[in-house]
Amino acid sequence: DTAFTPFLADEAETLSMGGQLAAALVPGMVIFLEGDLGAGKTTLTRGILRGLGFTGRVKSPTYTLVEPYTVSNLYLYHFDLYRFSDPSEWEDAGFRDYFNRDSVCLIEWADKAEGLLPAPDWLIRLEPEADGRRLHLTALTQNGTQCLARLAR
Ligand code: ADP
Ligand code: MG
Repeated sequence: DTAFTPFLADEAETLSMGGQLAAALVPGMVIFLEGDLGAGKTTLTRGILRGLGFTGRVKSPTYTLVEPYTVSNLYLYHFDLYRFSDPSEWEDAGFRDYFNRDSVCLIEWADKAEGLLPAPDWLIRLEPEADGRRLHLTALTQNGTQCLARLAR
């Protein structure tokens, strides 16, 4: 199966789902996070980081575009490209180097950097549903499919 669509009733469930996803991740993965402002993309990222053992503050990189973390023997880069507009900034900032086999990259608003990003292994969409959220995870590569298969369901 290449899709996973759990319902998340509240913020706590989004965080614990992040923990489940963290257990299935491998270095080198690229994950796009889609959904409107307030959908829960940063909350899910916080849950992933908590799941990996990061105890510090997880803030939204809205102005800095990326927040780097070193945790559990891997590099995790959390991008928020909402304010990204100048493609030359991509090279200047060295963002290309963030995508390598030792890092996990989580990207909010990936469409703002279309053509600059590698293809994602997972596409995760969050949508409002009742008082909670519906998560739609789609695996788009062989690696992504293998990682999805490891998810405890
Ligand atoms: P985004 O990064 O997509 O803009 P945030 O994670 O910053 O969104 O904010 C999401 C908001 O929705 C937070 O106020 C959070 O408490 C809330 N939230 C997260 N998950 C859920 C859920 N499953 N059900 C209801 N509210 C949620
Ligand atoms: Mg966010």
